[in-house]
Amino acid sequence: MTKPAILVIDDDPHVRSAVTDDLRAIYARDYRIVVTDSGASGLAAVAELQRRGDDIALFLVDERMPEMTGTQFLLQARELVPDAKKVLLTAYADTDAAIRSINEVGLDHYLLKPWYPPEDSLYPVLDDLLEDWHASRPAAFDGIRIVGARWSAATHDVKDFLARNLVPYRFLDVERDADARRLLAARGEAEPILPLVFFSDGSVLSQPNAHELAGRIGLRSRASAPFYDLVIVGAGPAGLAGAVYGASEGLRVAVLEMQATGGQAGTSSRIENYLGFPNGISGTDLTRRATAQAARLGAEILSPVEVATLRVEGGGRTVVLSDGAELGCHTVLVASGMKVRHLGVPGYERLHGAGVFYGATLAEAASYKGERVIVVGGANSAGQAAMMFSRFAAEVLLLVRGPSIHHRMSRYLVDQVEATAVIRVLTSTQVQGVGGDEHLERVELRHGDGTTSTVEATGLFVFVGAVPHTDFLTGVVAVNPHGFVLTGPDITGDGSRPPGWPLQRDPYLLECSVPGIFAAGDVRHGAVRRVASAVGQGAIAISLVHQHLATA
Ligand SMILES: Cc1cc2nc3c(=O)[nH]c(=O)nc-3n(C[C@H](O)[C@H](O)[C@H](O)COP(=O)(O)OP(=O)(O)OC[C@H]3O[C@@H](n4cnc5c(N)ncnc54)[C@H](O)[C@@H]3O)c2cc1C
Repeated sequence: MTKPAILVIDDDPHVRSAVTDDLRAIYARDYRIVVTDSGASGLAAVAELQRRGDDIALFLVDERMPEMTGTQFLLQARELVPDAKKVLLTAYADTDAAIRSINEVGLDHYLLKPWYPPEDSLYPVLDDLLEDWHASRPAAFDGIRIVGARWSAATHDVKDFLARNLVPYRFLDVERDADARRLLAARGEAEPILPLVFFSDGSVLSQPNAHELAGRIGLRSRASAPFYDLVIVGAGPAGLAGAVYGASEGLRVAVLEMQATGGQAGTSSRIENYLGFPNGISGTDLTRRATAQAARLGAEILSPVEVATLRVEGGGRTVVLSDGAELGCHTVLVASGMKVRHLGVPGYERLHGAGVFYGATLAEAASYKGERVIVVGGANSAGQAAMMFSRFAAEVLLLVRGPSIHHRMSRYLVDQVEATAVIRVLTSTQVQGVGGDEHLERVELRHGDGTTSTVEATGLFVFVGAVPHTDFLTGVVAVNPHGFVLTGPDITGDGSRPPGWPLQRDPYLLECSVPGIFAAGDVRHGAVRRVASAVGQGAIAISLVHQHLATA
């Protein structure tokens, strides 16, 4: 297979030769470095590469060129190669143009000239972007193949588990795909139990559960030690931030995750408001980066592993897992976040997993090409899901219970939703029931004026409020009436310490009603439900863990 290309365009021969030398020194082994001197010759090079069927991974383009600027080139090039990463080379004087280009062409990065030393200013940026590019490529032909029925909940669970753990796969619909039938025929089973998951080494799993899949994709679910300084429950943004700071500051850290690292943020199509990513970052990319960072710094990440309860014995804390295994530790960080609330309407339970879902991943969105999808909810998560489905579906109905989408959705997202032709917003509207034989076929709606209507749809994705993941804390630490965890000032607001509190000090800012158990992120009472807040609290919790360990 030919190497993917990095296309460099610069009209200045000195800059062109310097950047080409720097790129060849590092990337020539894995990429073809293609160099041209103008936007027009760059477009010709793109056409030639496409004619040969070669991939283009990245454009590195000077902004200030005669006839066609870098931004103008990228505007045309992204129509031809939407997936390639886009980097502008700019001088200080062109920074404004580069920032405008972020919105105009979805620029991934701009590099200020000169970029010396390249080890600091050039390679780390390009390494990250090339890694993202590879991660978003469709599965190689010899990757994992899932043969299953589109509307089966078991098939959905397998696809969802792989997608959320960032493992690419090819889905072959047993009813529509000739390759699926060939694979089944080759196995010769009269009544195969679907889904079947085919691995590149020739082995096959029939209707595997999360643990069987985890073992095959290299996840680790057994702790390497019986005791840790810190056990973190949940690997969303708060838990991963705690892992990064804890491990980098010398603590022995285990992170326990029951589904997939990334938490809710991992399911976000594009997080636009996280500092340092001017073009936004997908939940998948943020998760991959944060998980790799935590592991590199020495945190042990175990998944899928569900925490069933915590035991408190004097100064010792024991985390009990759902399979009965136990981990001892000095401190616990509860970063277990929350999940979407169910819609209790007729037909809902029966069709859950067969067209009716809580939340959604990009992999799921792609299978609704040309169909009608309904997204329920008025906050950012629903808006993002509607945008994600708008790339594939023929029509997206966004159902909002209130009179407007402006109340709970960020302005930038409202603008995107309103500017997207395939999204239709229905305000003052609720789901009254769902129907269909084997999978979702229709949704009954109730409108604000009391009238009802029925629409045909193959997908219903629900984003309506949340309940905290705190069952495992029942009777262990204080929670509010909705189950969200109370910490620091929530507990000592009236000047008294929690019942049974054994220390001479008050609970720290993020400490629960039991010393040495901390909480961060969406699981906390009154949390600001944002990635940045969760990350910030995960980091703060570590400094409180140190303070506790120093005095305990
Ligand atoms: C679709 C969507 C889009 C969003 N977009 C944005 C955005 O653009 N910008 C923004 O700032 N915020 C966004 N948010 C909100 C943001 O994702 C959350 O605020 C953030 O993820 C909270 O992080 P957390 O670590 O506290 O919890 P979570 O992300 O909820 O992670 C908690 C983790 O703990 C695990 N867990 C729970 N219980 C257990 C247990 N007993 N044992 C083991 N593991 C357990 C869960 O499986 C989960 O992975 C979005 C949310 C959603 C759902």
